[in-house]
Amino acid sequence: MNKNSETEFIPFHRPYFDEDEISEVTDTIKSGWWTMGPKTQKFEEEFRKYIGSEYAVSTSSWTTGAHLVLEALGLKPGDEVIVPAITFTASAEVVCYFNAKPVIVDVDIDTLNISPEEIKKHITSKTRAIIAVHYAGLPCEMDLIRAIAKNHNLFILEDAAHALPAWLNGEKIGKLGDAVCFSFYATKTLSAGEGGMICTNNEKIAQRCKLMRLHGINKDAWKRYDNDGDWFYEVTAPGYKYNLTDIQSALALAQLKKLEMMWTKRKIIAERYNEGVKDNCFVKTPAIVKNRESAYHLYTIQIELERLKINRAQFINELKNRGIGTSVHFIPLYRHSFYREKFSLSPDNFPVSENIFNRIISLPIWPGMNDTQIERVINNVNEVSKIFKK
Ligand SMILES: *Cc1c(COP(=O)(O)O)cnc(C)c1O
Repeated sequence: MNKNSETEFIPFHRPYFDEDEISEVTDTIKSGWWTMGPKTQKFEEEFRKYIGSEYAVSTSSWTTGAHLVLEALGLKPGDEVIVPAITFTASAEVVCYFNAKPVIVDVDIDTLNISPEEIKKHITSKTRAIIAVHYAGLPCEMDLIRAIAKNHNLFILEDAAHALPAWLNGEKIGKLGDAVCFSFYATKTLSAGEGGMICTNNEKIAQRCKLMRLHGINKDAWKRYDNDGDWFYEVTAPGYKYNLTDIQSALALAQLKKLEMMWTKRKIIAERYNEGVKDNCFVKTPAIVKNRESAYHLYTIQIELERLKINRAQFINELKNRGIGTSVHFIPLYRHSFYREKFSLSPDNFPVSENIFNRIISLPIWPGMNDTQIERVINNVNEVSKIFKK
């Protein structure tokens, strides 16, 4: 055990890897094929099989993947897309790329996921799609959301940046949506530093995303520099440069092998946190919902402000002074100047999100955390609550 294990700073996140990641990347470097190529193809196929979707198209990030999906959908200026208030800006900014309007709606008070009731309230004749964010990795109420989408002929893009792996009624997230985007950003549950994946069962969407991912070139463009590759290619659309590289795919392949092992480790940490603070009436733990299995990407507590002498920022500071790194997921979209000003939003329109925002703190939950670190997080959350109770 580390000699400073009682005082050493516990970061909010630390990536988990071993020799496998190193040897996969080394292998790729030595192969001489560094950008999109055989490893990326292999990763796409293994990811597709793991999820169980018909198609999997890798991208340089969640953001570029979602851009491709909305392009394939044919989103037009003036169209509306419903997005939850508590999410990362990427979920909404991709809508703005098209001069379409992200219609930001309030979330469910227990799960922090998009509220199906709020979706219904905000549907207009211009609504084209819903972006359903599986917050912290807990699946949204997809049964209800799908029924609403079907009734109004809306497309569902699932933001599964947190939901790898996660299950709804025993089915893995990623194989049932119109399109589901994953992120392999540095802090996510499978990381390639940067990267993303689009999973879909819709052949047209998959083909269009594949085409537009690499300059709109009408065949497997990455093969053009291979031995048996052909110099001839044709550009059929003004595409993008949104591909993953083989160096990233090498990392991702190694990470995919340990995905469920890392998930089990996070789940154990979440269960220990639940148990460790269950007698602490100053913090509320994340919702547990029947038939929904979280990815445990985030462990977000809500502090009971009414019973404490300090606010959320001070609570975070107290934890920091005790060596615990935390974060806030997320500053609601309507609080950012761009969305607030462009769409004339006010916190008053989002009573649930606003209430939740002032209470949320995400605690460290990464697979490599040891027992001492887990205990220290619990003890310090309990200690700060006790010292600053009203
Ligand atoms: C991280 C994140 C994204 C963006 O992912 P990138 O791969 O960085 O583009 C989108 N949505 C949510 C909810 C995220 O947490």
